[in-house]
Amino acid sequence: MRAFVTGGAGFIGSHLVDRLVREGYERIVVYDNFSSGRREFIEHHLGKRYFRLVEADLLDWERVDRELEEEYDVVFHLAAIPDVRIGSIKPEVSKIDIMATYNLLDAMRRRDIEKIVFSSSSTVYGEAPPIPLKEDFGPLLPISMYGAAKLACEGLISSFSHTYDMKAWIFRFANVVGPRCTHGVIYDFIRKLRKNPEELEILGDGRQKKSYLYISDCIDGMIYAFERSKERINLFNLGTEGATEVNEIARMVVEEMGLKNVRFRYTGGDRGWKGDVPRFRFDIGKIRSMGWRPRYDSDEAVRRAIRDLLREI
Ligand code: NAD
Repeated sequence: MRAFVTGGAGFIGSHLVDRLVREGYERIVVYDNFSSGRREFIEHHLGKRYFRLVEADLLDWERVDRELEEEYDVVFHLAAIPDVRIGSIKPEVSKIDIMATYNLLDAMRRRDIEKIVFSSSSTVYGEAPPIPLKEDFGPLLPISMYGAAKLACEGLISSFSHTYDMKAWIFRFANVVGPRCTHGVIYDFIRKLRKNPEELEILGDGRQKKSYLYISDCIDGMIYAFERSKERINLFNLGTEGATEVNEIARMVVEEMGLKNVRFRYTGGDRGWKGDVPRFRFDIGKIRSMGWRPRYDSDEAVRRAIRDLLREI
């Protein structure tokens, strides 16, 4: 198999590349602009016969088109500006991610590449009722620019697939955590506590509660469903059924860092930032019914990721 991986130098993308190598993919091309990706995450592949790195932006339409000239069986599209918070300050990031996805799909159409695997997000559900959400829940009304961009990309992928005989695997990820993670609540808490081990600023009231998924489970679920589900559009929630509260994450980070008497200072309000969905639960029955389930629950994923990141940052 030959794969083109956008965002392959990022957190999830680089783990995916490692997995594709283990799966025996004969060709893997990473396309990344290194806006948040890191060379060190993929450097063990540099110079290998199966591997090629393209340092370029998906907004560069001609370059995307040219790089897709090689034959590929599948495009894994993970490139995006991944921070939900940025959208409340810089709404243009959503435009960038939508344009990037459009360019990629248009180049795929021209090059007759039929399969796309896309990293969407639970944020497409917006502020939905407090029930475990299934893939067919609607209407989808995101409350963040990030969620809006993901939903727009899902729409483009669906319409390109129907119009140009393509097939798509869309995964709505929970919060993915683990080694090489360069953003998110665990990363933030560790960095803040390294700077000031006496006080931890917590955005919101700390009662936000979401599903966390360990990186190995994320990659495993994606590959599992990609290999088995054969509809035109294959849409899956990918997360854990339970959820972990931000206060609990803070307590776990403090404990794992061996700190005592840390003061928690809350910025207040029920959410961390504009566009944050404070409580969220996934129904993962669809992928479970195919015989897959995550190895780690939400609390275990958080605990493991704290230990991983303490070794890294
Ligand atoms: P990441 O920032 O580590 O990876 C994104 C990669 O895309 C980076 O390497 C970055 O340099 C690259 N990139 C961004 N814009 C680009 C562009 N215009 N052209 C080329 N390359 C570009 O983030 P991640 O956490 O690994 O996320 C991967 C994907 O999964 C993203 O699409 C993200 O939105 C999605 N996702 C992540 C999570 C999570 O919890 N980490 C949750 C839901 C969805």
